[in-house]
Amino acid sequence: MAVEQNTQNQVSTSEEPKTKERKGPYRFLNPYNFVRYLERERPTDHNLGNCPPPPHDRYIGLTGRITCRVDAKTPLFISDSHAVRELKDKEKEGHKIYRFFEYEGQPALPASSLRGMIRAIFETATNSCFAVFTNKRLSYHFDSRQAPWLVPARVEKSASGWLLRLLTGTADLRIGTGPRDEQYAAWLFRYWPIKPSGTLVKEPQNRRTRLFKVRTKAGMEVKLRDLTHGKECFAIMQLTEHPHPRIKFWDVVALGNSRDELESNLRDGQVVKPGWLCLTNQNIEPKHSERFFFRDQEDDSCPETISLDEPVRRAYEGLISDYQERHRDKVQNRSRQGQPIDKRVGDEPALSRFVYRDEERQLKGGELVYAFLNGTSNNPQVEFIVPVSVPRVGYKRSIGDLLPPRLHRCNDAQTLCPACRIFGWVSGEEKQAQGKQTAYAGRVRFSHGKPVAGTIEAFETPIPLAILSSPKPTTTNFYLVRGDGQPDRTGKLNYDDNQARLRGRKVYRHHGQMLSEQEYVRSGWREDDQNRTASGVLKSGAFTFTVEFENLAKEEVGALLWALELEGWHHRLGFAKPLGFGSVLVKVEKVEICDPGERYAMLDTSGWRTITESVWRERCVISFKTKMKELYGKDFLELENVKDLQALLTEPSIGLPIHYPRPPYYVEPHGDFAKPNPEGMQFEWFVGNKRRPEPIPLPLASKEEIGLPLLEKNGNEYSDS
Ligand SMILES: [Zn+2]
Repeated sequence: MAVEQNTQNQVSTSEEPKTKERKGPYRFLNPYNFVRYLERERPTDHNLGNCPPPPHDRYIGLTGRITCRVDAKTPLFISDSHAVRELKDKEKEGHKIYRFFEYEGQPALPASSLRGMIRAIFETATNSCFAVFTNKRLSYHFDSRQAPWLVPARVEKSASGWLLRLLTGTADLRIGTGPRDEQYAAWLFRYWPIKPSGTLVKEPQNRRTRLFKVRTKAGMEVKLRDLTHGKECFAIMQLTEHPHPRIKFWDVVALGNSRDELESNLRDGQVVKPGWLCLTNQNIEPKHSERFFFRDQEDDSCPETISLDEPVRRAYEGLISDYQERHRDKVQNRSRQGQPIDKRVGDEPALSRFVYRDEERQLKGGELVYAFLNGTSNNPQVEFIVPVSVPRVGYKRSIGDLLPPRLHRCNDAQTLCPACRIFGWVSGEEKQAQGKQTAYAGRVRFSHGKPVAGTIEAFETPIPLAILSSPKPTTTNFYLVRGDGQPDRTGKLNYDDNQARLRGRKVYRHHGQMLSEQEYVRSGWREDDQNRTASGVLKSGAFTFTVEFENLAKEEVGALLWALELEGWHHRLGFAKPLGFGSVLVKVEKVEICDPGERYAMLDTSGWRTITESVWRERCVISFKTKMKELYGKDFLELENVKDLQALLTEPSIGLPIHYPRPPYYVEPHGDFAKPNPEGMQFEWFVGNKRRPEPIPLPLASKEEIGLPLLEKNGNEYSDS
């Protein structure tokens, strides 16, 4: 069966009555929420806690094979990395078309996907470590009112270590405030602003505004000649006042490679100074100038250089990586469309230099930066360094600092958590002590899922999927909770707050009856480089796979069986989970045990025997649940992690549409009737939420009673009641 192309016109009037009938304001559920971790520590020397893994060369536990059946309950798509096609036509350039994974010429479920799916649940249920966890430092927008406090500086590497050269111009260094008179760095007029600042617009006839206009006119800007960013050179400059009467600065009128060539052109009031050229491109709309970093030789208000310690250097490198990751799509888009990266394109600013140059990820010495200083002007210390004057700043704490140490990835082969002992472990440490074990092979092996004859039904038409967005962990009221585990309603909780903690493991909810084609098909069936097309998406289908296990304790077999069957709740598998794809049910069909003693002693028997369902349920699954209750103090199904899994992986308890947060879209201009913006526009919802006096946090997974409202960019809640 084909997906009907009726979404061509997303705003068709035929849908109005259906939506209008709804009672009360429009509400929706976020496609993901978090599964809380358990408060109690895993026990040590326990097979459901931390202990040494058994050796692979002796049989001391149960060895056998579990045969399972998987049934797709919502559209399912797993892509085949070998069969990706990319469109080349103009508007569709860069659009990729994926095919369903195949094995032996038939659609199949790759073993690695099945293994990943089961490990995620096993880890969550057994309170194991977070094996897949990117521990990095996130960043936030620096308060622009503090921008004048930042001191221009140059990173230098000397025989005695790393130093920061403070380039305060002719001003005295002041800590915790801006310079008293002229700014530290000199200005080089280079651009007419994309959006001129208030003074330029309001006082066009002002004498100093006119000067400004003349200096930024095309052809009148300061010539860079052969000079590039970071280059040591000389500048002719004169002290000037900005139209805004409180800003005084050195205005660079010419640049050169030597003092001699410049000095012959000096006019009254001008001076020549050596320094460094700092170019970051026209990277924000009001920008008109680049900077020249220098220091007056007679300045003794502060030391010339101060030490630059490793944590500050690492934090800077992390920040640059963060900048580069945030802008990767933009950089690629521009190169693909043949647009310049370092210049404005229409009204869109250029990208900052350090955003696209790979070599900037690592400090080498010679970098021009801005420093935030502490201490006194005689004895300043560096708090952090940043690449621009209105920067993003890294949080002091990394994501991992908000996760209790007991849940960090295992780091000692002699004491591993249940998931690492069964699914395998690789040390995450870069430098390992000599002779220390760095990996442990798991004790389970998954097969590919092979189709059950006659069950496979695929959509005939390839589906251009809705745009998938990347995770946004800086939306703190979605990712963090307070120390008491409750969502924050003040909007002030952030990664540096001692009270803040991570919510837990992110899980995409099962959409069930609320699955909507409007949510997973791209609005207008568009195909471009922002979305991808999936061909051969399964409408329904069943597969079988096996899990071979070796040397497991009976509680471990129980945990594995539980993670497979999941109380009949849905697993989430494959691509486009936020759009509702990939809900599958797993049923254990057969459990066989191999008795190696028997196999070796009696050559005529295979040593394999099938265990009846009542026996494996009783001996393994129940004994796993009973042990968990003993260890964590509650009935297994009452544990926070298990309750949250249930809330997210069963039919949604409230029948609300499921999609990412969106602003309203007014069907009639200025009318009352609105629906979620079909273009997504997730960003606007979060901007609006931040502007509210009490930003709306994501509720806990098991307490989602009313859903979230549509929000306008100004924070207003759309209500149609
Ligand atoms: Zn572990």
